[in-house]
Amino acid sequence: MIKIEISKTLQDKIRKGYPWVFKYQIQNRLPEGKPENMAVIYDHNNRFLALGLWDSNSDLCFRVLNLRKSREINTGFFMERLQSAKIIREELEHEGTTGYRVINGENDGFPGLVLDRYEDTLVMKLYTASWFPFLDELYELFQKEFKSQQVVLRLARNVSKSLGTNSTYRDGQVLYGDGNSGWVQFKENGLKFLADVVEGQKTGFFLDQRDNRLKIREMARDQTVLNVFSYSGGFSVYALAGGCRSVVEVDSNPFALETSLRNLKLNFPEKSFPAQKFTQKEGDAFRILAELKSEKRFFDLVILDPPAFAKNKKHKAQALEAYARLAKAGAEVTSGMLLAASCSRHVQANEFYDAVCRGIGSAGKKYKEIARRGHALDHPATFAEAFYLKSAYLEIGP
Ligand code: SAH
Repeated sequence: MIKIEISKTLQDKIRKGYPWVFKYQIQNRLPEGKPENMAVIYDHNNRFLALGLWDSNSDLCFRVLNLRKSREINTGFFMERLQSAKIIREELEHEGTTGYRVINGENDGFPGLVLDRYEDTLVMKLYTASWFPFLDELYELFQKEFKSQQVVLRLARNVSKSLGTNSTYRDGQVLYGDGNSGWVQFKENGLKFLADVVEGQKTGFFLDQRDNRLKIREMARDQTVLNVFSYSGGFSVYALAGGCRSVVEVDSNPFALETSLRNLKLNFPEKSFPAQKFTQKEGDAFRILAELKSEKRFFDLVILDPPAFAKNKKHKAQALEAYARLAKAGAEVTSGMLLAASCSRHVQANEFYDAVCRGIGSAGKKYKEIARRGHALDHPATFAEAFYLKSAYLEIGP
């Protein structure tokens, strides 16, 4: 097994639970051409520190699997971790939720691996190729544990790229089940949703916004709602279930808008949605918000849940500027509550909240912060870099 050496400072950080080593942090020369997928770290006193996954093709080359003592990485080890992860999520099932995250990577002891459950389908997403040697063992274990009908493999872009064209694995591959279609149906807080787990964004649905969607349902009665970056209509379905007066959706992707309509019909089959109750606007959110402003349209409840504006650290300043601009444009059409969210992991919570407040201020509006929210229980975050989801509820004044 590959043995890597790192600084004492990084050893201390890892001892406290930080799970990563990047290539530039490695201090020894490594043997070349050895196709290993595991590595170990000993501390400066030559005591065992960590066993982890090794990925020589990635800058993030080491991810901690086990701290302090060496362990055999086998089905028993995976089972233990899976059971701990399941216990945390137990209460979700009682709430009428069959779509949720079962394993949230590093935070549940499976570094670089996400497992999402959509009722009878499991979606396993890999962020490192180091998992491939364990893949058969893992998907069989997961399938049996949940008695799933289908297990689908999703690969992060860098993993797909590193595989080349001859690989046995590909993004969207059905590892178990008949795999006729990527569409699955599941429940969230008693509401029904469709997701395309093969082609859809993330693993098919933005499971991480479940708590905010629930909050919107509680707040929606008799409100006019603007759902910006609506994707497959999660917030819209909840708002309508909560008795809102109307919803306007904005998204640049026609496929997302179409899926949203399907989700609406699935939940309210007996209702027709006349244009004054439900409208979709396809196009760029900034442009459409400017149009709504010029038409002097106002909404009681405005949701801004954009894609990650900062794809890496270099884009952080630009992203903060965009969050401020978006909050300004949102506040300009809000006559009640604004929900602003960010899923950029390179933007810290306080930086995001400051940008949002700056944006609202620059619209010449007063505001009162009502709440800030982070991660739901099925998206635990055990180290700083894992906190990516931030949201703020702000009451917008005149
Ligand atoms: N709120 C959603 C998730 C949003 S994902 C939910 O709860 O499920 C981000 C969405 O923003 C995607 O659907 C994407 O198509 C859309 N999008 C990205 N850039 C956009 C832009 N400039 N204008 C409008 N929509 C955009």
